[in-house]
Order: sequence, then structure tokens, then C-alpha cells
Amino acid sequence: MDLLLRGVSHMYGDTQVLRDIDLAVGEGEIVCIIGPSGCGKSTLLRFIGGLERPDAGEVLLAGAPPAGSLNPLTYVFQDFALLPWRTVEGNVSLVLEDHGLSAAERRGIIDDVLARTSLSDFKTALPRQLSGGMKQRVAIARALSVRPAVMLMDEPLSALDSQTRELLMDDLVGLWQRERFTACYVTHNLAEAVRLGHKIVVLSRRPGRIREIVEIDRDLADRQQADAKLDAIQRDLWQLLRDEARAADRELADDTV
Ligand code: ADP
Repeated sequence: MDLLLRGVSHMYGDTQVLRDIDLAVGEGEIVCIIGPSGCGKSTLLRFIGGLERPDAGEVLLAGAPPAGSLNPLTYVFQDFALLPWRTVEGNVSLVLEDHGLSAAERRGIIDDVLARTSLSDFKTALPRQLSGGMKQRVAIARALSVRPAVMLMDEPLSALDSQTRELLMDDLVGLWQRERFTACYVTHNLAEAVRLGHKIVVLSRRPGRIREIVEIDRDLADRQQADAKLDAIQRDLWQLLRDEARAADRELADDTV
């Protein structure tokens, strides 16, 4: 299933937040969205997820959903959003309720997704017994359990220390190599974007417009000899981002004098 955005624009009051966003997210792609703070990244993700509607433009899903999909779009948030009184399997089970599944079907889906995310040994643990990285793995397992067409990931690693972030990035790369999931992944971390993305969408300062879309050939990128190329991409992206962030700071200062 492909995700298409056409001419998405939005105002909050007098403030234009997004302008004319056109974007295609193909099946099996991770599209990373980066840009200066406040440029509209999370807002864009909310429009994609249908939590809010943009003033103008459209968000379309084209093609057939994955087999057995219970929900075409699911979120993974920075703060994990786990219910503290439910076990790991109870938290996954939550999103499977109200879909008319039998207890045995639910059990099968939970066991399968916990195995795919290496969480089987933790199914009866409560969130407080888990590290931050493990909690986010549970949130990712919960998102995968509905067999979404697209996972919407809003800064999923930002609340974690750098070592845990590295480990989870490895997990996500491994998961993508096994399952070819599709994701829109908002981050302010360039290293994450370059490590995970097939497309990196750079938004300008507010109102967020598309400054550039950088495509990365993942098959090439995952080979050692591509490191230098990825470093160069990361440096170019940093220059773009730095220019946008500095311009945003200047505009803010001009507005407040
Ligand atoms: P980012 O994720 O890029 O940091 P956001 O999408 O969170 O940016 O916010 C973009 C801009 O829209 C910010 O200036 C923010 O204050 C504003 N904004 C976000 N949500 C709302 C809302 N519900 N009402 C009014 N303004 C909002």
C-alpha cells in the first residue's frame, strides 16, 4: 500500500505551519522526515494518521492493505504510551481488542509478534520492570501486531540514551531487513535518518515546505564501502538543516524586537 500526500497545507490561527507538501511513501520504504524544531514534522504525521485534517490538500492510501491488516496506520510515540498496569502481552493485546478476533486468534498474533521482536521471554513483565529500550520494543511490537500498511513513528528513540538508541536502531534495521515494513519516521537526529531512511525529507523552517528529498540506496548503504557516501550525505543534510535553523532563529529574533 502506498501513501501519497498532495498539496498539504495548514494554518493554526494566523500561523502557517505547513505549505504545499507533496510526498510519496512506497511500500517497504522508511521515509524519514527531518527539519528544524517547530517546522511542522509532528503536525504532518498527525495529518497522515488522520488525527487531524489539513486545511488544504489530501492524504491518500493507494493499493491493497497487507494481508490480515486490522489497521492501516499505527503510531509509535517517543514516550512509548504503554499502560503501566498491563503486562507486555496485555499492552499488545489492547490494540487487538474490538476487532472481532477470537481469544485464540489474539493469542496467536501476540505470540507471533513477540517472537518477531525478541520479546517472548518478557510477555508477563510489567512496563516498570523493563528498560526504556525494551519499553519501546514493546510499543513497536504493539504497532506491528495490527499489520499496518504504514507505521507512523514520532521521534521514537528520542527519550533514550545514546547506547540504547544505537541498539534499537540495529533492531529496526534488522526488522526492516526481515519484514520490509513501511514507515514515516520523524526525527531531529540526522544519524538516525541516514541509518534508517530510504528517503530523507528535509523540511524548511516554518512554514514547513519540502527543501529537499534525498534518496539512499539501502542495499548499497548497508555495505561497508558505502560509509563514506553516507557520511557525505549526513554532512550535506546538516548544512541544509543548520541554514534553516539559523534562519528560523534570526526570524524569531526579528519578530521579538
Ligand atoms: P515539529 O514537530 O517540527 O517540532 P510541530 O508539528 O510540533 O513541529 O509544530 C509546528 C508548529 O505548529 C509549532 O509552531 C507549534 O507551536 C504549532 N502547533 C502545533 N500543534 C498546534 C495546535 N494544536 N494548535 C496551535 N498550534 C500548534
